Amino acid sequence: MLKYDFDIGIIGAGAAGLTVAAGAAQLGAKALLVEKEKELGGDCLHFGCVPSKTLIRTAHVRHFMKNAQRYGLPRLDVPPVNFSEVRKRIETVISTIQKHDSEERFCTLGVRVEFGMAHFLDEHKIQLNGREYVAKTWVLSTGSSPDNPPIEGLDITPHITNREVFSLDRLPESMIILGAGPIAVEMAQAFCRLGTQVSVVQRSGQILSKEDGDMADEVIQVLKSEGVTFHLNVSVVRARDLGSQREVLIKDKEGNEISLQAERILVAMGRDPNTDGLHLDEIGVRFEKKGIKVDERLRTSQKHIYAAGDVLGKFQFTHAAGYEGSIVVSNAIFHFPRKVDYTFLPWCTYTDPELASIGMNEKRAKEAGVEYLVYTEAFKDNDRSLAEGERVGKIKLVLDKKEKPIGVQILGPQAGELLSEWVAVFGGKMKLSTLASAVHPYPTLGEINKRVASSYFSPKIFSERVRKGLKFFFNLKGRACG
Ligand SMILES: Cc1cc2nc3c(=O)[nH]c(=O)nc-3n(C[C@H](O)[C@H](O)[C@H](O)COP(=O)(O)OP(=O)(O)OC[C@H]3O[C@@H](n4cnc5c(N)ncnc54)[C@H](O)[C@@H]3O)c2cc1C
Repeated sequence: MLKYDFDIGIIGAGAAGLTVAAGAAQLGAKALLVEKEKELGGDCLHFGCVPSKTLIRTAHVRHFMKNAQRYGLPRLDVPPVNFSEVRKRIETVISTIQKHDSEERFCTLGVRVEFGMAHFLDEHKIQLNGREYVAKTWVLSTGSSPDNPPIEGLDITPHITNREVFSLDRLPESMIILGAGPIAVEMAQAFCRLGTQVSVVQRSGQILSKEDGDMADEVIQVLKSEGVTFHLNVSVVRARDLGSQREVLIKDKEGNEISLQAERILVAMGRDPNTDGLHLDEIGVRFEKKGIKVDERLRTSQKHIYAAGDVLGKFQFTHAAGYEGSIVVSNAIFHFPRKVDYTFLPWCTYTDPELASIGMNEKRAKEAGVEYLVYTEAFKDNDRSLAEGERVGKIKLVLDKKEKPIGVQILGPQAGELLSEWVAVFGGKMKLSTLASAVHPYPTLGEINKRVASSYFSPKIFSERVRKGLKFFFNLKGRACG
């Protein structure tokens, strides 16, 4: 019988790996956690969610200051941004959260943490810093890296990705952003608000391509009004270093070439799974360009090796990585078979206004051939939204043909927070009538959730048929005003 040093070994200490390590150790498993960077926390903490949301907040405050007059305040002359101060704020937030994801904390939980780049020697054994470690079960949670698009000249043209953009020495005067997914669009607005001239280059005709066109269109209108330039439906011909400037040559659908020049190029054209160097081929773990292949219980083609998080190439969010980590703990440590279910996995793009989504939108319903109905409410009709000076956006409730809710999208102030109520509705299989009749405090943005649910019931309750019935039974006298 094989002798294992550990019950479970986890490679990669981001959201997925940390969830597995903490869960497994607290359940009594002897756990090894391996991380190639100097600190735990992964992309989300160091190069993703945390620095981006911190930067977005700073940009938001500057935007408020520049628009003080809209709130009845005197006009402010806002001085230029000193990016090293912004960077310091980002570093402070990261280091505060880092304490929660520290080696000491995980050691206290009972996890052995090792730093270094691991690779498999066989399907139970890895090599790390010249030593061998054997575990009964392994988890691959190595995350993803920015995709390196095959653009002529890009490899020899200085450019940045999410790994560098939060630690720049100074605010770029201008920036070309390649890609128009959530990361690209969030950064476009944030840098524009800080004072950078931003151009976004996108191959397709829509930004945020997973979202419904009408929602994405409203986001693009806001960003354009703030000064971001968009080049949609274009291909990138080549990139070139011009010394103090970089050039990106793009071609539109008519074949016209346009030269864009800027101080910085930010590449945000998708993510590649981190599978290199692990020797997965040699131990029979199947993977493709998009990610590691797993079954519904997150087992790879080697049943004792699990994978979770961005490395799967599915839903690349921190909460998805955490959820998948919990599925792995359930299957590998509890031996309680659990399958992943992404039906109501929520997400949010943190532009201003935010765009949050759960379940099916119109695009996904059409792709799945599902017949659907849509109910909407606009933020301009929400009293709190008006008081806050927020007029853009709406909520969309998608129902199937049996009139059962199948999805919600919210474009508006604090959409990510507002979506939480729908997380409970879908997660708890709550009836729409429960939400429609629940009393919400006034005036809150959250009333929009109740209103859209009520908009489904209103025509049914306040119908001619109900009026006639009440008149018949209770002799109601009808309208008092012509
Ligand atoms: C700019 C940006 C903003 C984002 N904003 C959000 C957001 O607002 N909300 C959200 O939900 N998601 C956001 N994301 C996505 C989120 O960061 C990822 O989905 C999340 O980090 C995935 O977690 P993970 O554990 O799979 O991978 P990671 O967090 O990337 O962790 C993987 C870890 O494995 C390590 N590793 C890799 N290979 C090896 C090896 N061979 N040996 C040892 N260690 C290894 C890496 O160093 C890394 O620490 C954002 C991403 C970016 C880039």
